Amino acid sequence: MQAMAISGKARLAGVIGWPVGHSKSPALHSYWIAKHGLDAAYVPLAVRPERLKDALTGLVALGFAGANLTIPHKQAALALLDDITPTAARIGAVNTLFIDANGRITGTNTDAFGFLANLKHAVTGFDGAGAAVVIGAGGAARAACVALIDAGCASISVINRTAARAEALAADLGGPVRVVPWAGRAAALGNAALLVNTTSLGMTGQPPLDLDLKALPAGAVVNDLVYSPLETPLLAAARRSGNPVVDGLGMLLYQAQAGFAGWFGVTPEVTADLRAHVMNADVLTS
Ligand code: NAP
Repeated sequence: MQAMAISGKARLAGVIGWPVGHSKSPALHSYWIAKHGLDAAYVPLAVRPERLKDALTGLVALGFAGANLTIPHKQAALALLDDITPTAARIGAVNTLFIDANGRITGTNTDAFGFLANLKHAVTGFDGAGAAVVIGAGGAARAACVALIDAGCASISVINRTAARAEALAADLGGPVRVVPWAGRAAALGNAALLVNTTSLGMTGQPPLDLDLKALPAGAVVNDLVYSPLETPLLAAARRSGNPVVDGLGMLLYQAQAGFAGWFGVTPEVTADLRAHVMNADVLTS
């Protein structure tokens, strides 16, 4: 899709990260900008951790409508913003910024929405209420747990290599979250309706998640938040077992909708064409 020329009044947004070249967000938002013929631009912004505060001040000065935040800024930003939404506060991380006409910056987190929307669109009848096993206890795990709690999930077993991080997640979010030791992960799958990998294991260049799926019920949905590669070793194994599988790319696409709508005034659609475009987008190396 051909990008339109932009004017001096173009609405501006971008993604702030360090490094930022791996981010698929510029390809994703630029696709929607071109599709809707908007006078707008979305750019990668490489910002060192120690320059985040300056960068946020700069965004306001430059008249940006907002931005996405990615690694390593998602937690650090909490202390630097004018307002934090309740969802971002619960997750303990910010991935989307909105800047109002007075230069006030509000931080929110759209990952919980994106996580659930992806599953609902991929699996007919999925409502998130059944028992879930969440592997990992980082920011992505917190977003998944918040989404599942709000969907009325009956039980969430959180399993992390570093037990203290899982305990902290359970203490912060409460409700149906319980901690299962890392060594008990295979046995914990026995009554799961949903298994989610929120660790970086299985990502290109990382070892696979070591998890025996024998105890997993036949109908349990297996979701990997890793989307590079799209079919991780976990998803390949689940597919071989006959379980429904959902990759992580859809979460990225759905979490982006709210930011785009807030910055540019159009609620964009997640389509098969968008998915193919983002999947095939050459990301910059940084
Ligand atoms: P994070 O806060 O750094 O958490 C990383 C998690 O991975 C922790 O639970 C960590 O366990 C675990 N881990 C890392 N290496 C491990 C190993 N060798 N063995 C066992 N566990 C290991 O990162 P995050 O922001 O939650 O992101 C996690 C993953 O989700 C990344 O792959 C990211 O790309 C993906 N993600 C995808 C989307 C999407 O839209 N699809 C959105 C957000 C994140 P410890 O606590 O023991 O270190």
